[in-house]
Amino acid sequence: MRCRRLALGLGFCLLVGTVLCTLWAYADSWLPFSYIPYYLPCPEIFNMKLQFRGEKPFQPVARSQYPQPKLLEQRPTELLTLTPWLAPIVSEGTFDPELLRLIYQPLNLTVGLTVFAVGKYLGFVQHFLESAEQFFMQGYRVSYYVFTDAPAAVPRVPLGPGRVLRVLPVQSHARWEEVSMRRMEAISRHIAQRAHREVDYLFCVDVDMVFRNPWGPETLGDLVAAIHPGYYAAPRREFPYERRHVSTAFVADGEGDFYYGGAVFGGRVDRVYEFARGCHMAILADKANGVMAAWQEESHLNRRFISHKPTKVLSPEYIWDDRKPRPPDLKLIRFSTLDKNTQWLRS
Ligand code: UDP
Ligand code: MN
Repeated sequence: MRCRRLALGLGFCLLVGTVLCTLWAYADSWLPFSYIPYYLPCPEIFNMKLQFRGEKPFQPVARSQYPQPKLLEQRPTELLTLTPWLAPIVSEGTFDPELLRLIYQPLNLTVGLTVFAVGKYLGFVQHFLESAEQFFMQGYRVSYYVFTDAPAAVPRVPLGPGRVLRVLPVQSHARWEEVSMRRMEAISRHIAQRAHREVDYLFCVDVDMVFRNPWGPETLGDLVAAIHPGYYAAPRREFPYERRHVSTAFVADGEGDFYYGGAVFGGRVDRVYEFARGCHMAILADKANGVMAAWQEESHLNRRFISHKPTKVLSPEYIWDDRKPRPPDLKLIRFSTLDKNTQWLRS
């Protein structure tokens, strides 16, 4: 008899306990500030569920005519630091490298760098990689992507910690223009298949170049273009845009901001994907019409940067040309084209 009562009592207690727990869990979910520690100020803010309006779909800039921005139109010896669409123009003296290091280094970013070394251009890889090891994104994780038709012949340059080299096979083509233009296709395909998982930012550059001074986090941005060293002081009517209407790279007189170099572009990997794919589509459309733009993919890149403005612009410090003397407007050269034997390379 005593045992039965005890069992009944225990059962009752268990039942009451379960009911109380369920009630508590239920009340906890609708009591307004139940889980906010009393010492937090403004508890109502912590309890609010924010509903942002979501990112607006990207609107390409409508074609329009407006005055040309001029890199050299500031006070003498001072470069323009902001585009009319409020993108910073990066050059020596416009940023504090130490402050940027403190901001970017804790983010543990991985930065990709693509180069193509097809045919005789393989000869540039060693010097390119050695200079990149010395100057490109020092202190960050870096993935070099070397696209080549001769993977076994790519020199294995010793790399610093956190830096890797990936060799990717590509087809060679008889015409050098074809190799150069196919880069947009290969880059967009590579991002979709692999690089979007491996890097945060990606720069795509020519291999016939070397780093001469630090290239750091000041270059990181959503979509990054570099001002061509040959045209930074020229009026836009002299820019070597594609001027034939038949090409998708056509640029009208009175259009254009800066003339950008095809040897350097980059940004956040998703934006580079979108950009390279857009250029590739335009190149395909031209091909279907039997057209090759005046400066191949550089013409398409320039056309696209007019309607899809870069969010950061690099001064010609980042894409100089060894065949030109350094002008007084540029305080230093960070990345430069070698004086090469073009005729032999393209033969
Ligand atoms: N390229 C290559 N093999 C070729 C032609 C071009 O690997 O036969 C690649 C290489 O990365 C090169 C880039 O495409 O740097 C652009 O070509 P190039 O440098 O000759 O063009 P330029 O800078 O003279 O306009
Ligand atoms: Mn080049």
